Amino acid sequence: MSYQIAIDGPAGAGKSTIAKEIAKRLGFIYVDTGAMYRAMALYLLRKEIPMDDSGKISDASQAADITIAYKDGLQQVLLDGENVTGLLRTEEVGNMASVSSANPDVRKKLVELQQELAGRENVVMDGRDIGTCVLPAADVKIYLTASVGCRAKRRFDELTAKGEACDLAVIEADIAKRDHQDMTREHSPLRQAEDAVLLDSSELTIQEVVEKILALVKR
Ligand code: C5P
Repeated sequence: MSYQIAIDGPAGAGKSTIAKEIAKRLGFIYVDTGAMYRAMALYLLRKEIPMDDSGKISDASQAADITIAYKDGLQQVLLDGENVTGLLRTEEVGNMASVSSANPDVRKKLVELQQELAGRENVVMDGRDIGTCVLPAADVKIYLTASVGCRAKRRFDELTAKGEACDLAVIEADIAKRDHQDMTREHSPLRQAEDAVLLDSSELTIQEVVEKILALVKR
């Protein structure tokens, strides 16, 4: 039986940085489920599927071939055989992902892929519904959050470091909107699982969060 660590929380709480570090320390694979929803969003954007047409999103999503591979321990997302990992972390793709991920057909397809990965290997998986839906029997569940202002600043720094022009106020508004969409959607909304441990990273360093989670794993 594989060992499963589920980390859920809103955008920009530090989930991926922390999950990657924990996976490295434990020798587990890291599964970034947001990247799968982003790859699906990229597919829909390329096909020029309108954001507000859930029927077309349902139909088009079924033909998308999304697979996960690992290169030097890092997750790579392949869309119809093309490595699209470097194209996923833009605001345009993130905004489309937030809308298309509310679609139950999109979720069903990607959740199956996530469960298959977690059944094969020891995983640290992050997302919005990992502890509540994807891996309800995970060994350790974390709900990682931080204030909206703090999360916006982190996203701003991440995009700026990549040379992408951005505006802090726009990012903060986008994050607040995405939180609202993720928390109020009908299918698998973002919420803390009853047996998840709540961690607020606003006042903690990455290392402090990592140590807290590793202590939970050891216990
Ligand atoms: O975490 P990230 O910002 O990359 O996720 C992109 C979008 O994918 C989120 O806004 C969320 O709507 C969606 N998502 C989801 N379920 C997951 C992971 C991500 O609905 N498990």
